[in-house]
Amino acid sequence: MTSNVLKAQDSLQCGFNRDFFSSSYSDWYQQTVSELRKPKENKRWKVSKDTEFIIPVVFHLIYPFRVPLDIAQIPKIMNEINADFMRLNSDSIKLRSKFKSRAGNARIRFVLVEQDEKGQPSKGYTIRNSLNYFGIEPNQPYKDMHRMKFKAYEGTPPWNTKKYLNIWVCNLTSFETGKTYVNGFATPPKNAPHWSPIYFADSLIDGIVIGKNVYSNSARSSTLTHEIGHYLGLRHVSGDPPGFLDSALMCTYDDSIFDTPRVLHQNYYCDTTINSCIEPVNDLPDMLENFMDYTGDNCKNSFTKQQVSLMRYCLNTLRPQLANLEIKSIVKPDLFLVDVYPNPNIGSLHIDFKDSFSNNYSVVMFDYLGRKVLESQITQAKSIINLESLSSGLYSIAITNDKSEILYRKSIFKD
Ligand SMILES: [Zn+2]
Repeated sequence: MTSNVLKAQDSLQCGFNRDFFSSSYSDWYQQTVSELRKPKENKRWKVSKDTEFIIPVVFHLIYPFRVPLDIAQIPKIMNEINADFMRLNSDSIKLRSKFKSRAGNARIRFVLVEQDEKGQPSKGYTIRNSLNYFGIEPNQPYKDMHRMKFKAYEGTPPWNTKKYLNIWVCNLTSFETGKTYVNGFATPPKNAPHWSPIYFADSLIDGIVIGKNVYSNSARSSTLTHEIGHYLGLRHVSGDPPGFLDSALMCTYDDSIFDTPRVLHQNYYCDTTINSCIEPVNDLPDMLENFMDYTGDNCKNSFTKQQVSLMRYCLNTLRPQLANLEIKSIVKPDLFLVDVYPNPNIGSLHIDFKDSFSNNYSVVMFDYLGRKVLESQITQAKSIINLESLSSGLYSIAITNDKSEILYRKSIFKD
């Protein structure tokens, strides 16, 4: 792929660069931001940190003009979003040191469904051959972008949007111009306090759409991670100011997240010299690495702690039935001292018990589909588990006792 092509892809946007210029949006937004800055509102965002949310995912592949999409992309994409939301993405080390203390781990896992809504076996995706065109046209309003979700347009209706994250994949290239303006778009949680009601979705359209170009990308892609950010309530880091304002006023717009530096507008280039808004206290350059900016896939690698708090708050409060497999850790780390490392892992996983070893412990590992891939008794206080036969991706590891109680669990990324 030439650098020109990469640059062209970098300049693609998500669906939320639309409809920003309404005056009602501006008034509403200013008011909401000032409300959210009150300390009591901030506290409400906190959900117990040791809780790991698990979100069931179904893909709806819509084959444009009967050209199939490669099913093998689904594991690649699942691994990418799982790594990004567990902060196990290998490019997270590229985050500049000045932002390291602000980086957050969302502790959200995504699992492909194994059963459909009626309890029948499912591979985690649906397929529809369609002769319709779902391209996003220039200046098409957001509210008119959802045809791929309706049978009447040869699209695929969602599974219960309260219980599943529906991800549609289709051709988003404009029919009129042959160009692609939008990589993907998402619906924010209904009643999220910092979104305009014009974006709120009903049960017929709630979910995420990504273009077939994003889906088929063999290189690292962060588009779906960005859209999941919107789906869980995050806004762009710029706060999307109306473009006609002068820059001093544009810098007053914000994403209402306190630890993302203010930026003048969404950034397209990974230029680390950019500091587009000077803040009176603790000024930092633009955080180009933020998943909610528009910089390229080779640049974005992190959410901040406050973004993570907001996503977890929205998931817990505004999408309460979605993460229905919520797991809380059973034993506090200080009661069960074990080190499991390194993570990410290339083949040898060390399990070191510090002082409470007994020989009735077992280790169990599951893949992102929830399938058991490994089970082994632990016979020594310092053990090494061979993971070389496992394919690359995210796994969940649990240490159990002879009563099958889970004493410890952790997510491991196999490189
Ligand atoms: Zn966006």
